This record gives sequence, C-alpha cells and structure tokens, in this order.
Amino acid sequence: MTQPKYIFVTGGVVSSLGKGLTAASLGTLLENCGLRVSLMKFDPYLNVDPGTMNPFQHGEVYVLDDGAETDLDLGHYERFTDSRLARPNSVTSGQIYQAVLENERKGDYLGQTVQVIPHVTNEIKRRIKQVGQQSPSDVVICEIGGTTGDIEGLAVLEAIRQMGHEMGPGNTLFIHVTLVPYIRVAGEIKTKPTQQSVAKLREIGITPQIMVCRSEKPIEESVRKKIALFCNVAEEAVIEEMDVKHSIYEVPLMLQQEKMDDLVCRWLRLRLPPAKMITWKRIIHRIVEPKHHVRIAVVGKYIGLQDAYKSVYEAIHHGGIANNARVEIVKVDAEDIEEHGAARVLRGMAGILVPGGFGNRGIEGKIKAVQYARQNKVPYLGLCLGMQIATIEFARNVCGLKGAHSTEFAPESPHPVICLLEEQKNVKRMGATMRLGAQACKLAHGTRSRALYGAEIISERHRHRYEFNNDYRRQLAENGLVLAGTTLDGELVELIEQKNHPFFIASQFHPEFKSKPHRAHPLFRGFVEAALRQKAGKRRA
Ligand code: GLN
Repeated sequence: MTQPKYIFVTGGVVSSLGKGLTAASLGTLLENCGLRVSLMKFDPYLNVDPGTMNPFQHGEVYVLDDGAETDLDLGHYERFTDSRLARPNSVTSGQIYQAVLENERKGDYLGQTVQVIPHVTNEIKRRIKQVGQQSPSDVVICEIGGTTGDIEGLAVLEAIRQMGHEMGPGNTLFIHVTLVPYIRVAGEIKTKPTQQSVAKLREIGITPQIMVCRSEKPIEESVRKKIALFCNVAEEAVIEEMDVKHSIYEVPLMLQQEKMDDLVCRWLRLRLPPAKMITWKRIIHRIVEPKHHVRIAVVGKYIGLQDAYKSVYEAIHHGGIANNARVEIVKVDAEDIEEHGAARVLRGMAGILVPGGFGNRGIEGKIKAVQYARQNKVPYLGLCLGMQIATIEFARNVCGLKGAHSTEFAPESPHPVICLLEEQKNVKRMGATMRLGAQACKLAHGTRSRALYGAEIISERHRHRYEFNNDYRRQLAENGLVLAGTTLDGELVELIEQKNHPFFIASQFHPEFKSKPHRAHPLFRGFVEAALRQKAGKRRA
C-alpha cells in the first residue's frame, strides 16, 4: 500500500471557529475529486476520551460503531464524508500519556529518561500514522483541537512538524484556520491576530501553506494581499470562509468557489479534476428553497447549548431535506414544562422529540411532554432516555402503575420499569463502561419501524446503562405498547411503538449518529413526514 498524504488542520486566534467543519468540508471536496479520505482528530486535553465530560463543557459525545466515545467533530466527518471512522480516529493527549506511562512501567524504554520529546511526540506520530495504515486512504486529514499558543498543544504541533519534515514536500500540507475579525466601529477587517497566530506557528517550525480565513464580511483584495504577504503564503492560498447563510452544508461549496480543491490537489501533487459537487448542490437547493415548513420541539436539559444535541438537530434537518421541508427546531427546556404545563409550552408543535440524557433534572417535564404527545396524537420520536421516558409514561398513565420510574432516578420505585442492565451491576469505573456502539436489532413484523427501515435486521449505536425491565414486558404489551425491536436473542427491548397514533416511535439506541444530509435516517425521515401530515391535518380541520 502506498503511503497516504497528510493534511494537518490547525486553528488560530480563538476556538469555535468551525475547524471541524472546515476539515470535514475539505473531506467532501477531496472525496468528490475521487480520492479515498480518512479524517481524524487529535485533542490535546488530558481526558482519555470525552465520554466523561459534561455536555455543558464539551457538547455532545459522538459514538462510533466500535463504541468509541468521541468528539462531536467526528460527527461532522461522518456526515460530510464516507470516511470509515473507528477508535484510532479520535486521539487525545490523555491516551498518549497513558500509553507512554504504561510502556515506561513495562520497562520498554530500557532505562532512558522518558521525555515529551521524543517519547510523547513519537507516540503521537505513531497514532497519526496508524490511521493512514488501518484503512486504504489516499489522504488523511488530521485536525488538531485547541488553538495555537495553547501550552497543552505544543507536543502535538512538534510531532506534526516532524512529520512534515520526514515525509517531505508534496506529501504533507498545513492548513491554518483563523479568524479575521470585522471591527464594527472602525468599519474594518483586521489581520493582525492572524499574523500573530501564524508567527506563533512559525516559532515552532510550522509554516502553513493555506490560510482559511473565517470572517463575517467578504475578504477584499487588499486584505488578501496583506495576509498573503505577512503570513508568507500565495495570494490564491488565502481562502475566504464566511459565516454560512442557510446551513453548514454550504461550506464545501464555499471552499470550492475559492478553488480550494484545486489548490490542495496541486500542493499534494495530485493531478485531479475539480470536485463533482452535483449531489451536494441539490441538497443545498432543497435547504435554501424548501416547499414546506414545520415546527418540531426538542425537549431536553441542555437546551441553551448549541452543541449538546448536535447530531439530533442535524438528523432532524436531514429528515427535513428528505421531505423538502424546512424544520424549525423549537428548543424546549424540560423544566419549563414542569413549571408551565405541557399544553402551554408545546401547543402548535407538529412533532415532539425527547433526546438522550442523564440525571434527574427535568425528568418529570419530559414525562409530561410524552403524555401530551400520546394524548394529543402529536408525532413523537424518543431517543435513548426518550425511550425510557416513554416507557415510564405508558406504565404510569396507561397501565396505572403508580410511581413507575427508572432506577436511575428513583432507586426505590415500586415499579422499576427501567432498570440497570445486568452487565452494568458491577461496573465501578466511569470511562467507556456503558453499553456502547453498534448492536444488531430485530424489528417485528408489521411495525412502522420495519416499514421505514425496509429491513428486519438493523444495526444502530448505543450509549446507555439502563434498559427496559423485562419483568414488565407482558403487562405493558397487554396494554398496547408495541415491543417493535429487540436484540437478536430477544433479551433487550430496543424499540417501542404505540398503536392508534400517527407516529410514536422510541428507540434505546441513537439513530441520530447515522444520518447524513443526502441519506436521512429512516426514523427521522418518517418523523418529519408525520409532522408534516400532522400540520396539514390541523390546517384542514
Ligand atoms: N441515562 C440513561 C441510561 O444510562 C439514558 C442514556 C442516554 O440517553 N444516552 O440508560
């Protein structure tokens, strides 16, 4: 196998620039040039993985097929490309130090003093190269988390500098994503922060060859010239990436307009035609000029946060694209429902979704939201915790099981309809110990889910510790709950539905992780379709 070429994406000036989106969008372009692309992220923090981090700090934890709990940027990579992602595609400094220290304890360093250079940097290089070796790829795009100038990122930058030196010109490319702020009072775009962050990189020995300039205003000719001159890049290598107007899926097209595909290919000495972006353009057309409009409520706990339910929001929009509709997502704090009642908060919603979550806060509000959806026949989609909540609501209000609950929230509940998974009972350590990753699920004949998937056996990703309590299966089913999906051995309930309802599906797994803009997940496609029908029905009534 030939050695893949490496593109390193660093970020300057501030965080939250959309570096992940830029890397993913470059992936889209290169795949559409005909290349096999792998994407990976290196996060310089010391957590072994983001699985133990609070969504308020870090946004959603994105789960891969193999059960790796990763940074949400990997979600962008999967939505924008066909890159096959697995555990090695998400590396943290925590993993690096863990490996180095284990090696040291095993005596692998033969009496040497163990140091950041070369031991830590060598381990970083090994991990980055591993991604290029594990699946056949022509190009590996490696995004470096954090911002240049962070102390914790220094070893990573040194490692990629070494890779650039060792692999030689034409085989590596350094792209720096930077902020070019517009100062309103002066009416001017400023390049100084960008110059300074490149100076910081040069101090370490890295000279970026392409500058991606995030900005809210167009970058005029004179500004481009200035950035080119002071950052030591060609003028054509100053790429403008303005804030998107409609959707993040516009970014690949914006980059192509700046001829980034051509520039990158030339730099890597690949003779290829420009990226063929027809499918992508079609998606954007649907996003910009949809035929329909519908409002869907997401009832959660981390509502104030843009990133906490990232994949859920994206999958809902994909469902919209598939139905030629713009979905207006109304973010509802479950505690507001507790305070004001479901009818007041949820009136006028054509669909209600309760996503995954942990902890007690807002639980009763979520239960009320499900009750409202069930009784008023509003389409409902429940994801993970959203399925557990739907089970509790059904047990309490349809089966009359007073005090029914999940042992996560009420360990002494008289009716623990949701309880700890058997395999979880002896788990003490917190990191990577949930039921994680892809599991097969069998869908029952005649269910709505089976019709939507068009398959009997499906595979979906998980991240949970609690499950549907089998002691209550009979009672709930007798009262009309449809146990629509189970594990292949029939042991765990994975999906429930309700009859005599326009759309009521709730899954123990997370379908949102497998949705793409051009391939909406069947459950989200069906959910948005039902919401549109709901809205049309209301109008007719
Ligand atoms: N807290 C629940 C559990 O651990 C649900 C998890 C989730 O929604 N991801 O089972």
